[in-house]
Amino acid sequence: MAFIQSETGTLAKLFENQKRKSLLLRQESIKDRKRRIKAFGKFILANRERIGKAVHADLRKPLVEIDLSEVYPVVAEIRNVLRNLNDWAQPELIDAPLTYLGTKSKIVFEPKGVCLIIAPWNFPFNLCFGPLISCLAAGNTAILKPSEATPHTAALINTLVKEFFEEDLVAVIEGGVRTTTELLKLPFHHIFFTGSTAVGKIVMKAASENLTSVTLELGGKSPTIIDSSANLTDAATRIAFGKFLNKGQTCIAPDYILIEETVKKEFIDLLITKINALFGEHGKIDEHTPNYSRIVNQKNFKRLDGLVKEALALNAKLEFGGATIEEQNYMHPVILSQVPLHARIMEEEIFGPVLPILTYNSEDEVINLINSKPKPLALYIFSHRKSFQNRIIRETTAGSACINDCVLQFTHPNLPFGGVNASGIGKSHGKYGFIAFSNEKPVVKQRSGFSSTYLLHPPYTARVKQLIDMMVKWF
Ligand code: NAD
Repeated sequence: MAFIQSETGTLAKLFENQKRKSLLLRQESIKDRKRRIKAFGKFILANRERIGKAVHADLRKPLVEIDLSEVYPVVAEIRNVLRNLNDWAQPELIDAPLTYLGTKSKIVFEPKGVCLIIAPWNFPFNLCFGPLISCLAAGNTAILKPSEATPHTAALINTLVKEFFEEDLVAVIEGGVRTTTELLKLPFHHIFFTGSTAVGKIVMKAASENLTSVTLELGGKSPTIIDSSANLTDAATRIAFGKFLNKGQTCIAPDYILIEETVKKEFIDLLITKINALFGEHGKIDEHTPNYSRIVNQKNFKRLDGLVKEALALNAKLEFGGATIEEQNYMHPVILSQVPLHARIMEEEIFGPVLPILTYNSEDEVINLINSKPKPLALYIFSHRKSFQNRIIRETTAGSACINDCVLQFTHPNLPFGGVNASGIGKSHGKYGFIAFSNEKPVVKQRSGFSSTYLLHPPYTARVKQLIDMMVKWF
């Protein structure tokens, strides 16, 4: 069977071995964890070329972009852990209220145990090893399930893990839906899933059978608002990069633009110039352009092509477009305007190089539209009006927000990353990733001999009653 790939035998046996190991890990010091993570960081850097080759074979990402968006976030996560783990893992001392006089309390961050990390294909290296760093920093073991849609990277992840880790500490199981379904039957102590909202629901359902905690990093339609006070050149440059990097296959890429009617034409002209300048060769993009990646597979190519064709059939206007070559999964950047709200492209996450541009005339219109849709993973505002920025932040919800830029929030080492409801549950990165893989265990230590709680024990004399009455009223 495809899923029985571990040297030790079946998945259940692998799980049991990791469970045993996870208990042994509890005897390790923070120094031991850091030593391992540091060595793994060096190992990743020593294997940059192999990583570049594998990801390029899957997505034709430019090598520099692989360094920037796959290798760098993982090594940055490692450096953040090495700098701060002592502090994060330190038990947090908690003040005692009067009613707990004589006690000492703390919160201890204990490892959850055996964790499952399921990764998507769009940043196939980063989104597998990034969460692994938080998982190891918190003292857990891990089974990784990379995406089958990027087979070269999945195979390399498997090889690298075998070369560096013992199987009872970190193991890789390759495979698709059937394999993942088998894995999800195991009573993991935490599941960290990155992928689509639809599969997130399947994962959460399966996790509920074992009451396994979950972090769900999902997708959604991230709105990008531009008002007439915005610096349009900045907005065009930053949106061109954030949207068309990785061919739009980025969970936090701007999904659609909401722009004030008066500046629409100027913005579209600037955006087209910037897209060509950033990703084209000699100022123009075509299928030979090396700076522009490919759509992951034919299934997604067809899905995107279908979304564009349906929108055009519903009278959307093509503002910018070019060749699409199905055999190469190549799609020229597409900008659409006058897209009706009932078009499928405005209903589902686009996740590709297609950008609908909608216009608005009032702030209320913007807020109502965003609030009528499932809560997005990210929200972007390009504006120099503070009151507008504040109103949008206050009256809408999103997993994260960024003002006058986009996608930047993902790599900030000190900010939590994650969605909200339909776009995700739980947070990751840095300290927040460490907490996601930890059980925050409260520990209360009582003094010996007489304790203040004795004053509340039965028999309930008049004095005890008086005390409890005081507590109810005042403490
Ligand atoms: P996906 O949900 O199709 O697949 C993700 C993982 O789940 C893969 O490893 C896959 O093998 C597994 N899987 C697929 N179907 C399954 C099933 N029925 N049962 C069990 N497991 C199953 O997602 P994808 O296409 O790989 O990635 C794209 C999605 O991921 C987009 O929606 C994007 O927004 C989201 N994403 C989110 C983040 C984030 O950090 N929030 C990051 C990257 C991608």
